[in-house]
Amino acid sequence: MQQNAPAIKTEIVRCFQKLYAQGTVNLFEGNLSVRDGDVIYMTPSQQNKETMTPEMILTLTPEGEILTQNGLKPSSETPMHLALYRLRPDIGAIVHTHSACATAFALAGREIASELAEQYLFFKGSIPCCAYGTPGTDAVFADFPRYFAHEGKNAVLLANHGLVTVGKTLEEAFARAEAEEKTVVSAEDTWILISGGSLTILNESGRDADGIDSNGHITMTGGTVLGSLAGGSSSARILVFGSVLCLIPALAAALLYKRCRHIDA
Ligand SMILES: [Zn+2]
Repeated sequence: MQQNAPAIKTEIVRCFQKLYAQGTVNLFEGNLSVRDGDVIYMTPSQQNKETMTPEMILTLTPEGEILTQNGLKPSSETPMHLALYRLRPDIGAIVHTHSACATAFALAGREIASELAEQYLFFKGSIPCCAYGTPGTDAVFADFPRYFAHEGKNAVLLANHGLVTVGKTLEEAFARAEAEEKTVVSAEDTWILISGGSLTILNESGRDADGIDSNGHITMTGGTVLGSLAGGSSSARILVFGSVLCLIPALAAALLYKRCRHIDA
């Protein structure tokens, strides 16, 4: 059953503002779309999410012809959305964010191995990283046939850029974008990402099997004491992992500021 246009536009704005509130897109970046029959609903380019209204959402044909005349331009990533709808008839909505954890992996060119997380089935396995493409160009979605069509993925990373999720509904695509940020908080992946290959835990005089010395001190490479524990290795890992997690937003923000100055809202 098709929803009516006002309801779809209202839902898009609500989701966009929620993503902004969550910090996964900034004020002018990211984009969402919904397909309803032969009409594509697309967020506008370079508009403040806090003051966005349903009337600002554009409608297009599947070929990209703009149907709405409201003085605004559709997102510069509209070709990516249209290509994805052509690839997968089952897709009803697309969400593109620059969320911190996803972008950190995208900057590293690494897939997110989600096999250990409960969201594994939700994503149909790991979240692969597409080859880099300049934002706003067709190169951004050159790998989409492989991942979305052949492998049936519901989420991919865009190298040096961000995250794309899809769903039958906007709610489902949104939920996948949200779940990705939780899935990526996998201890193994985070450790490897932050340390550039591995995170070695040492005690003050040398390495031990669990990364804890006889006094319960947790240390990182170079012998820096991170904390002191009375517990075993699992507690130690939780403390180290917690410390590493605190670094993720700062790392991602720094990398984004330095390397992702594109505007693709
Ligand atoms: Zn983007």
